[in-house]
Amino acid sequence: MPEVKPYMLGKLTWEESQALFKETDIAIIPVGSQEQHGPALPLDNDAFQAQEFAYLVADRLWPKIKTAVTPLISYGVSPHHMSFSGTITLRHETFIDLIVDVGKSLAKHGAKKIIVMNSHGGNTAALSIALRKLYDEEGLWCVGIEWWKITADVVKETFEPPHFHADEMETSVAWALGQRVLEDKRIDEPGREPILGFTKATMFPPQPNIMPVWDTTDFSDSGIIGYATRADPEKGEKIVVAAIDRITAFIKRISLIS
Ligand SMILES: [Zn+2]
Repeated sequence: MPEVKPYMLGKLTWEESQALFKETDIAIIPVGSQEQHGPALPLDNDAFQAQEFAYLVADRLWPKIKTAVTPLISYGVSPHHMSFSGTITLRHETFIDLIVDVGKSLAKHGAKKIIVMNSHGGNTAALSIALRKLYDEEGLWCVGIEWWKITADVVKETFEPPHFHADEMETSVAWALGQRVLEDKRIDEPGREPILGFTKATMFPPQPNIMPVWDTTDFSDSGIIGYATRADPEKGEKIVVAAIDRITAFIKRISLIS
């Protein structure tokens, strides 16, 4: 049985939960996806990363700053990966409803600050709507955190572009976090022509930053978009360290808001 920590809401009894929410108003919801990550990474990669980041952050903060980490939301919005076996997608509407319902439930028990630790770019649009609704309808203080954005400067100095999917960046970070990596299955597939001659596959679009709609098969046959053979857990560790430092510093600040 994995070690039980006092911030793991799913492992607490209702009485322990009640006691925890007397001491904190901060809830962290880890959110990922179940989708193809090329031949070298498992389908649960984003979910795994979200969970690990949430636990690492809560662990670093405890007991000075207490948080409640909810059970992992392991499904996300992944229609663009449905050509690959094992991918399971939610509709945007389902995802929004799910986050809103979880947030409202947490609010009933005393959470006033909701931090969603999101590890899947396909969730971002729906997540921003869900957080908006929680703010407007419940008055909750809401924020979404994505590790590749909060560490964008470190990502760009550590990895060559494209910074995208199942690539050097993502495989390195997953590896550093202890994910199952099939080392011999790593390949390089940097992606086909930019969409409409403008937008390349990247998490950090250059100008003109248009909003294309795409399917992974537009770019890639393997599901990898980038250079997975360059992945290195030591490089990944740099991102993990920077992410944990920055996220914990942020949560320390918001813990002071009443
Ligand atoms: Zn991913």
